[in-house]
Amino acid sequence: MKSFRTDLHIHTVLSPCGDLEMSPANIVLLAKKRGLDIIGITDHNSTKQCKLVWELGQKHGLTVIPGCEMNSREEVHCLGLFEDFDKLNEFQQYIECHLQIIPNDPDIMGYQVVVDEDGNILEEVDHYLGAVLNVSIEEMQQKVHELSGIFIPAHIDRRQNSLYGQLGIFPPELKADALQISKLADETAVREKFNISTGMTLVKFSDAHYPEDLGKTYTIFEMHEPSFTELRKALSGDGGRSVRIPL
Ligand SMILES: [Zn+2]
Ligand SMILES: [Zn+2]
Repeated sequence: MKSFRTDLHIHTVLSPCGDLEMSPANIVLLAKKRGLDIIGITDHNSTKQCKLVWELGQKHGLTVIPGCEMNSREEVHCLGLFEDFDKLNEFQQYIECHLQIIPNDPDIMGYQVVVDEDGNILEEVDHYLGAVLNVSIEEMQQKVHELSGIFIPAHIDRRQNSLYGQLGIFPPELKADALQISKLADETAVREKFNISTGMTLVKFSDAHYPEDLGKTYTIFEMHEPSFTELRKALSGDGGRSVRIPL
């Protein structure tokens, strides 16, 4: 068993609130420099920048998990992570079917661009990616699981755009693979506050929108190799694998 520093919640320049310095090349460079082994790319309601980060990760020996940070009808943010690009592309189609279309004003909401390896703009997304999907959190979770993905409600301790902030409770029908707490949160305090049993895995990721945040917050995954399958097994504590938030 080996330890892998893992941060599965990172935004690129494609997110309206993502810094223009969060290009795929820069993210991979910084993740390597700061000792991360596995990263997840999770832009708001879009997966379009994942492939390039994955390709650059392959070149530089960094495991990149493609994904997305979805915004449900109830305005709850959740991470969906996928094992391959067929599944990811299918999920992208699902997003495009359900995303509420609001024109984006880059001066107010921020730029939303897909860039190439050199940072040249390939596409500017003209509708606001921070909008909601017209689906409930349960429907979103079911879709992620139908595609064999990993489903993790994001920053659950935040007052807004979080499971407890928006809903007040953990919906009885919801099946989460783990819950992500925010970077400054204390694991024990969050468990007590929301009455979360020890059977539910908590993870801590950076939710980085700026280069300076990359590498500062992560979770240690104890498992055999840096792969999607191993991540899933570690989240459920399969075969002695485990997940630990560093103190
Ligand atoms: Zn969020
Ligand atoms: Zn985020």
